[in-house]
This record gives sequence, C-alpha cells and structure tokens, in this order.
Amino acid sequence: MSSWKRTEVRRGREYLVQPVSATSAQKEYVCPGCGGTVLPGTAHVVVWRADGVLGDEADLASRRHWHNHCWSIA
Ligand SMILES: [Zn+2]
Repeated sequence: MSSWKRTEVRRGREYLVQPVSATSAQKEYVCPGCGGTVLPGTAHVVVWRADGVLGDEADLASRRHWHNHCWSIA
C-alpha cells in the first residue's frame, strides 16, 4: 500500500481512496466498476465508505478494489 490516502465524494457520500502501487498489488480483485479483474501488478485504488454509518469494521470489510480509470468515472 502507498502511504497516503485521500477523501472523495461520490453521489453525496464520502469515501476514502487508498492508492495501491503496482508493486504492492499482488492479488486479483474484481473491480465493481466494470466487473473485470484487477490483475496483480496493476496500480489501482482501494475504496471504502468514510461516513462510518456501518461502523469501522463493516467499512473495512466493504473495501473494494477499483481500476483507477473505473473509479475516476464512477
Ligand atoms: Zn474496472
């Protein structure tokens, strides 16, 4: 994981966005934006709700891995 994260708002909700570098991406994930696979070695972002309505544990469990492009157009 990279050392910094940022907050972004989508559809009125606040999300935390954590960039993952290509060298840190070592597993496959399903991107919620396109339904495709985020392949190992692909720089991407991890996104989760920042408003905490579900509680911190649920927020962490709901983290999703997105292609950079898919998140940018979400
Ligand atoms: Zn995608």
